[in-house]
Amino acid sequence: MEIIVGKTAGFCYGVKRAVEGAENEVKKNNKNTYCLGEIVHNKDVVKDLENKGIEFINDLDSYNNKINTTKTTIIKESEKDSEEETKKELEKGSEKETKKELEKDTEEETKKELKKDTKKEIENKIKEEIKKESQEEKKLIIRAHGIPKETYEKAKEKNFKIIDYTCPNVLKIHKIAEEKKDNHYIILFGNINHPENIGTISYCGKNYSVIEEKEDIEKALKKVEESNLKKLLIISQTTYSIEKFNEYSNLIQKKLENKNIEIEIKNTICKATEIRQKETEEISKKVDLMIIIGGKNSSNTKKLYEIAQKHCGKAILIENKDQIDLKEIENAKKIGIMAGASTPEEKIKEVIHKLKK
Ligand code: SF4
Repeated sequence: MEIIVGKTAGFCYGVKRAVEGAENEVKKNNKNTYCLGEIVHNKDVVKDLENKGIEFINDLDSYNNKINTTKTTIIKESEKDSEEETKKELEKGSEKETKKELEKDTEEETKKELKKDTKKEIENKIKEEIKKESQEEKKLIIRAHGIPKETYEKAKEKNFKIIDYTCPNVLKIHKIAEEKKDNHYIILFGNINHPENIGTISYCGKNYSVIEEKEDIEKALKKVEESNLKKLLIISQTTYSIEKFNEYSNLIQKKLENKNIEIEIKNTICKATEIRQKETEEISKKVDLMIIIGGKNSSNTKKLYEIAQKHCGKAILIENKDQIDLKEIENAKKIGIMAGASTPEEKIKEVIHKLKK
């Protein structure tokens, strides 16, 4: 069996920078270090960083919930303590007092006293916790996908020290969109729910549309005309398919040919993605089975899988070596391997090792 491994398989520059940067941050101090969203779409990498001390939060409001959870825990713990104390006190009391009347009095009195003490104790603990929270430095790591403009403001309001690992390629898109947003309608190619695009949209102003598939084009062009803007900017998610980018941009140009709209097309697909997609296509054409390694929720991995399916007779998508079905590969004489931008090198090595065995 011959195995061809893509030269561009694995971590890209932006992901490597973010993951290594996050590792360095926890090395310096592993307390109060948060990351907004998964740093990469790879469960193992996230788990590893979690074990080292990074807390992953979905949004800054869930950080608030963390404080609330701490408060609830304090209250619950204190209530539990007080119940246990009451029980102990009562047991002690009932040993000493044998008369029922006295037991009743003791029970009520003890409960009242402990309730008073517990309330005070809870209040003090919460105050202490809030004081501690506001004094300690909190770090917020921004992953390579970037975040919306408003989230930076919110993080500053919450006194986070921002450690920004937004990939420079993504920052470049934010800058282009922000510069053009006032007199251009913006079309962004990509998935509307992808974190990178959620960030980019915040720089696009009010006049924008997101196109993921061919069927979204008509609706977007209707909105372009309704906006009455005479300038159109086309940009793209960094990991969008280059084939679709070229096809859809050409189609839009044709459809707007006589509409007196100036069209500016900026291919913002990152070079690392473009080269990786090209290499995937080339290898796919040479082999009889293509294995794509990467997170199933990773956009760039999914694109590689689509390319492999299109250009190779058989393609499979796996997250790690354990997902290899040996029956699926038994007849393959030439296997190609490519991995998404969020796949660590060890995962690729593990797959190769299992195939060679
Ligand atoms: S833009 Fe390119 S280099 Fe940057 S994180 Fe995304 S895939 Fe990686």
